[in-house]
Amino acid sequence: MTTRLVLATRNAHKVGELRAILGAAGLDVELVGADAYPEIPDVKETGVTFAENALLKARALADATGLPAVADDSGLCVDVLGGAPGIFSARWAGKHGDDLANLDLLLAQLGDIDHPHRGAHFACAAALALPGGATRVTEGRLTGTLRHTPAGTGGFGYDPILEPDEGPDAFRGRTCAELTPEEKNSISHRGKAFRALTPHITELLA
Ligand code: IMP
Repeated sequence: MTTRLVLATRNAHKVGELRAILGAAGLDVELVGADAYPEIPDVKETGVTFAENALLKARALADATGLPAVADDSGLCVDVLGGAPGIFSARWAGKHGDDLANLDLLLAQLGDIDHPHRGAHFACAAALALPGGATRVTEGRLTGTLRHTPAGTGGFGYDPILEPDEGPDAFRGRTCAELTPEEKNSISHRGKAFRALTPHITELLA
């Protein structure tokens, strides 16, 4: 029987991305978004690290549903800003989830900063929590350089301004928003964190 794993997000894009990542990693699980449980309130992200927030979200959902739950917390860390926006990436311009305002504010803040000082990375912590109390957390990052102007229509968030410096030659000169979903998953912070979590899911659900 396929095990049901609940994913602590109501973002359909993320559910799809994780289904692809975990599916490609050979994990035989049914992944459902938190949307399947509309009565469960969203948990407050009171942690101060990606790992703390991912664990908070996974634990709350596992306790509320009685099912194994996975969660992630991610963001963009800019070198010259000392790692900001970091855990505040989704609400950098003030309103949670306003991707365009967040991106515009960041570009304005970095307006006078040129190469080679535009280094940044996406970071992701992936957490698994079981109703019985066991937890695991893994992390991944994708390093790159920030563009002065956005390019590309794929992805979400800060994708149009981060040009990865990882992956094959064919990725050079393209932003994350110019990669296909498969290309991005192959090098992304979320891809790495969840691929690292996969053996723990297999082990704990066995
Ligand atoms: P979370 O949903 O709390 O993990 O917030 C993640 C936020 O970080 C998003 O709203 C984006 O602003 C940013 N972010 C995280 N991962 C990515 C990515 O893969 N591409 C672009 N932006 C990302």
